[in-house]
Amino acid sequence: MVKGTPSMGKKNKVIFIRCRRCGHVSYRIDKKYCTHCGYGRSKKLRKYNWRRKKK
Ligand SMILES: [Zn+2]
Repeated sequence: MVKGTPSMGKKNKVIFIRCRRCGHVSYRIDKKYCTHCGYGRSKKLRKYNWRRKKK
């Protein structure tokens, strides 16, 4: 899996689990919130203007 570069033990750590709200595997166990939709951090959906596509 890791070629050449030492993994430093980071690869074994589970950081993300499946989010209950958005279904993405983006729920951080250590931070207790989803990085995809913001579940656990705020009641609103995570939204940023720079993510919005301009037509
Ligand atoms: Zn989510």
